[in-house]
Amino acid sequence: MNKTLALGVDIGGTNSVFGISDRNGSIYYEESLPTREFETPGELVDKIYQCVKEAGHLSKIIGIGIGAPNGNFFSGTIEFAPNLTWSGLVPIVHLFESRFKTKAILTNDANAAALGELIYGAGRGLKDFVSITLGTGLGSGVIVNENLVYGHDGFACEYGHIRVIPDGRSCGCGRKGCLETYTSATGVVRSITELESEHKANSSLVKIADPRADQVFEFAASGDKFAEEIVDYTAKILGDALADFACFSSPSAYILFGGIAQSGQTFAKKVKTQMEKGLLHIYKDKIEIRISTLHDKNAAVLGACSLVWKK
Ligand SMILES: [Zn+2]
Repeated sequence: MNKTLALGVDIGGTNSVFGISDRNGSIYYEESLPTREFETPGELVDKIYQCVKEAGHLSKIIGIGIGAPNGNFFSGTIEFAPNLTWSGLVPIVHLFESRFKTKAILTNDANAAALGELIYGAGRGLKDFVSITLGTGLGSGVIVNENLVYGHDGFACEYGHIRVIPDGRSCGCGRKGCLETYTSATGVVRSITELESEHKANSSLVKIADPRADQVFEFAASGDKFAEEIVDYTAKILGDALADFACFSSPSAYILFGGIAQSGQTFAKKVKTQMEKGLLHIYKDKIEIRISTLHDKNAAVLGACSLVWKK
């Protein structure tokens, strides 16, 4: 059977994951490489080429989708990504196209995630939605009329860096009070030290050496009062922000992705309740909060592959 397949590549600060999928989202091959071990992006591209060739899929690939931090759809370059060791402008599309002799498309990882939801995930059948990735940072991809919003330069809809608390927590972008400093996984962990509470002294959470965001949610579920406060605080800030974001694209849903979202319906319900309180009346009871259905290791690869199918 002669299938037509897409190569999806998700370039991350720690690992680069790539895989081959068909239009239905079946994955035929997947591999992960440590990004930092490649001194130049060209070396990474060569290694991926070699792996795909050895796996016997090279001749079936009709296109390459790439998701990367600060990946610019229009220029095909990764632009000054703080988490990557390759500095400046990285012409990643050119590198893939000249090595594989096929068309490559780049976008940032959060946009790839949104397309992944549209084509394979919780966004199927929706025309207007926003996907929110709650990871190390907060990534967002905005779909309007089944298309990603890129803006004039490819960097539209960086909701994670909308400032929600005036003069609030310092952000990696150099400014203060950005949404992601409160509601990303990293932000939730920051709340353990930065949130004041009368229940703090009695919480087992503060005794953990290197706490993770998912532990905050676990502790909250088992009745730790301080952990519950952090979950409520996170849901309040995110819910308020989502209420305001509705004014931009009037989405029919927000799709939450990432470890925090995976903690289940309790958090999603809290976000929804808070969002409803803050919505302009014309949007009330019209916007769903959905949890991503792509919560497995293939999500990044499928998101990148979806760039090829969406084309
Ligand atoms: Zn910021």
